[in-house]
Amino acid sequence: PEPAVPQGKRVAIEARGIVKEFGQGAGSLRALDNVSVAIRENEFFTLLGPSGCGKTTLLRMIAGFEFPTEGAILLNGEDIAGLPPFKRPINTVFQSYALFPHLTVWENVAFGLQMLGRPKAEIASRVAAMLKLVRMEELAQRRTDQISGGQGQRVALARALAPSPKVLLLDEPLSALDYKLRKEMQIELKRMQHETGITFVFVTHDQEEALTMSDRIAVMSKGRVLQIGAPTDIYDKPADRFVADFIGESNFLPATLLSLSSGVARVKLASGAEIPATVAEGLVPRESVTIVVRPEHARAVREGGQVSGRVENVVYFGTDTHIHVALAGGGTFIVRQQNSRNGVAGFQVGDAAGIEIAADAAQVLRD
Ligand code: ATP
Repeated sequence: PEPAVPQGKRVAIEARGIVKEFGQGAGSLRALDNVSVAIRENEFFTLLGPSGCGKTTLLRMIAGFEFPTEGAILLNGEDIAGLPPFKRPINTVFQSYALFPHLTVWENVAFGLQMLGRPKAEIASRVAAMLKLVRMEELAQRRTDQISGGQGQRVALARALAPSPKVLLLDEPLSALDYKLRKEMQIELKRMQHETGITFVFVTHDQEEALTMSDRIAVMSKGRVLQIGAPTDIYDKPADRFVADFIGESNFLPATLLSLSSGVARVKLASGAEIPATVAEGLVPRESVTIVVRPEHARAVREGGQVSGRVENVVYFGTDTHIHVALAGGGTFIVRQQNSRNGVAGFQVGDAAGIEIAADAAQVLRD
């Protein structure tokens, strides 16, 4: 489902038709099943999916630690199968970043450049620039066994960026940090990507993290890429049930497809109501479909609405309140309403409630 690359944005790294099988015969496991992604220059690209979906395997293949069973990895359009990891202009930052504990921050960042035999003056200015980028200048002379986890992750980033790789791979680099620090580092990472212009390929299972940081996201499940797009595309137009469920909160309703023309469908809900719905890319028209509606695109009303039921839960979140409505025809519909100074909408458990779905809020899923 990879859309064509717009003109003017060159592809930095491409995975083309990647299949990866571990083991042989009956016990073999297909970790990647025909995966294709084209990651552009200067892009913050995220591989997002639940544990075991193949994110790390794909990343390791780009780095050169793993080889595809089928397909190819291309760098600037050239197959790099023959290039060992250390010859690829690609660096990786892991969750466990493994700094040299007996060396200082400065020495850790300089290490790779020294190995490459760069001139002393160049190393000094490059290390200084990298420490500035990650905001660690003041701790340059501190040993890395005497800094915090968040500081250590910054040093690891500086070390990986120092040799100016074309592509930086990041495998869940923030998952060991506490919530506040992680939020801070998300913004910082985005800034570093922007300032260096280096292509970042970021792996996470955290949908919020992916939405916050990425230019584009590839959503993966069970070794396949289900959808690739900007965060707003993925959130507003999820292609299928998995994507809609994995990213944000979703209400699913069974419906009958009445008509379909130029991307807009008319569907009939189990309640009998007929509503318009946009159509996910790749939908094969059929009679029974599932539509998705985000909780913030509907509101609970005393009378009317396209579906109705009874309030079974009211959950207060400070900025908003979630009202869970058990639908007359079965299933639960969650509505999210913003709280104002006037308090919450006033629904209580047991109240009858209608649900008004906003115009253009419903989307017919691909499957
Ligand atoms: P996580 O978020 O848990 O790291 P992931 O999406 O990165 O998950 P991978 O590590 O890529 O997933 O693993 C994909 C599948 O391939 C999993 O089922 C895993 O058990 C399997 N796998 C990975 N590496 C190997 C290996 N060397 N030998 C056998 N199976 C492997």
